[in-house]
Amino acid sequence: MPDSNPSQNAVSPVTSGFLDRLAGILNPGQILSSKAQREAYAWDNTGIRAIPDCVVLAQSSTEVAKVLRLCNEMAVPVIPRGAGTGNVGGALAAYGGVVLSTQRMNKIVEIANNDRLAVVEPGVINGDLQTALSGYGLFWPPDPSSSRSCTIGGNIAMCAAGPGAVRFGVTRDWVLGLQAVLADGTVINTGGRTSKGVVGYDLTRLLIGSEGTLAVVTQATLKLAPKPQARRLSRAVFSSVQDATKAVAKLMTVGSPPSAIEFLDGASLNLLRNESDLLIHEDGCAMLLLEVAGTAADVESQAQEVNSCIATFSPLEQTPPVGIEEAQEVWAARYELSPILKKLAPKRVNEDVVVPVSKLNLLIEGVEEIATEIDIPIINFGHAGNGNIHVNLLVDPDDPVIMAKVKPALGRIFKLVLQLGGSLSGEHGVGTQKRDYIEWEVGDDSLKLQRNIKGVFDPKGIMNPGKIFPNV
Ligand SMILES: Cc1cc2nc3c(=O)[nH]c(=O)nc-3n(C[C@H](O)[C@H](O)[C@H](O)COP(=O)(O)OP(=O)(O)OC[C@H]3O[C@@H](n4cnc5c(N)ncnc54)[C@H](O)[C@@H]3O)c2cc1C
Repeated sequence: MPDSNPSQNAVSPVTSGFLDRLAGILNPGQILSSKAQREAYAWDNTGIRAIPDCVVLAQSSTEVAKVLRLCNEMAVPVIPRGAGTGNVGGALAAYGGVVLSTQRMNKIVEIANNDRLAVVEPGVINGDLQTALSGYGLFWPPDPSSSRSCTIGGNIAMCAAGPGAVRFGVTRDWVLGLQAVLADGTVINTGGRTSKGVVGYDLTRLLIGSEGTLAVVTQATLKLAPKPQARRLSRAVFSSVQDATKAVAKLMTVGSPPSAIEFLDGASLNLLRNESDLLIHEDGCAMLLLEVAGTAADVESQAQEVNSCIATFSPLEQTPPVGIEEAQEVWAARYELSPILKKLAPKRVNEDVVVPVSKLNLLIEGVEEIATEIDIPIINFGHAGNGNIHVNLLVDPDDPVIMAKVKPALGRIFKLVLQLGGSLSGEHGVGTQKRDYIEWEVGDDSLKLQRNIKGVFDPKGIMNPGKIFPNV
């Protein structure tokens, strides 16, 4: 981890005086201060470890407000934390301070069927909400692959999404309003309970994706959608990446685009041939998984339209659409790819770049060229319907020759993405991992404005220091 504090203002360590005052606000069981307890909150999905000085298990927005007021007064960093599944170090105490866990704020406060909304606390697990909603024939569309463990607060802070984003959009499209606590303990409410509403700045969307650097989200009013009654999945295997990626762009022009379009490159297919029961044409160099969703009657015609479009690209193999149960086997194989990569190399550098769908072919070609030049295996798969590809560099962290090539290679990949009109992150966010590159994408003036906005919300710089903004 970097050793200097890149926030705009100095932050102070947790002292015994601070802990005494914290004990006056919370019950003893809500403050974790032993090393073993703190270590349990020192990780996320980056593999980096950073032990906080103290962990607080808040139970209400009133408690969050009291804790923030104290931290602000004593300039102690606050790191909001959901389930710790983030990929960019966002929930880690990079510079010490208090990890504020929302795990006990896990109530579904209300499901208002007629208004198609739910009000939830931030620690509700995404998958638990979906289970509760299915009884009403509804769902909340953001579908990160981590949905069985990640929280709604984490989804909001990272603007999470998954394969369904091509049809249903991302978290920012499905939040009506928020309750949030600012650094000085002020509780604000943004948005409301209606999908229309144009009064004032859109603070809801400013907080979505702010990675815990502006405020702690303590309640969310979520927009819901009718749960599709049926889904159909088909697979198409192509002899070239070009054909597969061009087919994706063409699919964007059909009447009802698929609810998910996943791309897997040739290296991914080799892994699936070895590690799964899927039969994949031996000459296949790329595969698309194509899912449609809707009413039972609609899905048949949608699947037909999608498959006719795909057929014009002469795939080597095209399976007929199958229902949810058979599709699960295919999705399981797709989701096994990440764990399989961990077996192939001691370390995987997983980037989640995104380009306009019409430029996917240029992205994959460019990345493949870089992989060949630097002689590091790079495996590409992801949510092609949004142009969002996981670019996985397989490396050995103990090999200095290999590791010396990684940063320059990432720089080249990021420059390519930006040249193609894309973004450096479609899902994972910035955290500590991409903060050195944010200026490449947003530019100097926008970055200054963003720092100024941060300063208005959090003048002392206590909210999640070290995240999003590059070192200054
Ligand atoms: C196996 C796996 C698959 C994944 N797949 C996807 C995917 O498909 N799509 C995707 O988008 N992401 C994916 N992720 C990343 C991650 O799951 C998401 O970013 C998720 O939204 C993080 O939720 P969390 O509760 O774990 O948040 P945490 O990791 O605890 O925190 C993430 C960030 O949110 C902030 N935060 C958390 N709660 C609050 C709050 N209440 N108020 C303010 N800030 C808060 C934290 O400070 C931190 O910056 C995946 C991760 C894993 C491990």
